[in-house]
Amino acid sequence: DIRYGAEAGLISRRLGRGVAVRTKDGTVVRGRVLVNCAGLQCDRVARLAGDDPKMRIVPFRGEYYELARPELVRGLVYPVPDPAFPFLGVHLTRGVDGGVHVGPNAVLAGAREGYSWPVVRPADLAGTLAWPGFWHLARRHAGYGLGEVGRSLSKAAFTRAVRRLLPAVREDDLVPAPAGVRAQAVLRDGTLVDDFLIRQGPGTVHVLNAPSPAATASLPIGREVARRVLGVLERG
Ligand SMILES: Cc1cc2nc3c(=O)[nH]c(=O)nc-3n(C[C@H](O)[C@H](O)[C@H](O)COP(=O)(O)OP(=O)(O)OC[C@H]3O[C@@H](n4cnc5c(N)ncnc54)[C@H](O)[C@@H]3O)c2cc1C
Repeated sequence: DIRYGAEAGLISRRLGRGVAVRTKDGTVVRGRVLVNCAGLQCDRVARLAGDDPKMRIVPFRGEYYELARPELVRGLVYPVPDPAFPFLGVHLTRGVDGGVHVGPNAVLAGAREGYSWPVVRPADLAGTLAWPGFWHLARRHAGYGLGEVGRSLSKAAFTRAVRRLLPAVREDDLVPAPAGVRAQAVLRDGTLVDDFLIRQGPGTVHVLNAPSPAATASLPIGREVARRVLGVLERG
């Protein structure tokens, strides 16, 4: 039974009697186990259920450009990853339709669903600033973060970053395209979680970090979630 647009608002759990979710429109959905895979909201949903996820989502917006001369790129042009960051940095990806998108960068978003600079939600921002892990992260990676802000605000700076991979590119080859927001899981000590993170509570399984699953591990993640659900059911 798939319910579109049904936002989980309240979650109650009674030991041995499963979980009840009240959606914002007042519908109550009951089940024996709750699987939380709420992406940008997963830490909040875990806390709604009464569990401590021991991490917070810090939203990072990834901005893209479309390449006006896609013939410059025949395949994928990616940098060697820096193991210090889960962000790959700007790269060029040729899609199945022949178009080439360039990006993403990674700038702190003003809201969980902050798909552009003007979208700022004070409650989201306050939640980010109240998490000690954010400040550890900010201290450790301030230089990198400022560079990303620069590449977000200045197309010339973004173009310079692209030119390291594709010297022929010019500023007017880059056409602004829609952005995405990455749900970056950050631990209390500022660690950027770069592996899958799934935690359980009584009657609950929380998918708290599922980075880049499409190309790598979506089916094994599904199997792992199912395995943990069965474990929760066995424990009652
Ligand atoms: C810019 C960008 C580029 C990326 N590129 C790639 C790529 O090339 N390959 C790849 O594999 N991955 C890529 N990813 C990562 C990938 O998109 C995510 O890792 C993946 O979507 C995470 O899956 P998820 O199911 O955990 O969360 P999501 O896909 O975010 O799904 C969460 C869902 O929960 C819903 N939800 C939230 N709160 C509630 C609530 N209270 N009640 C009910 N529903 C709720 C949301 O509406 C959403 O539908 C990219 C991400 C970004 C931001």
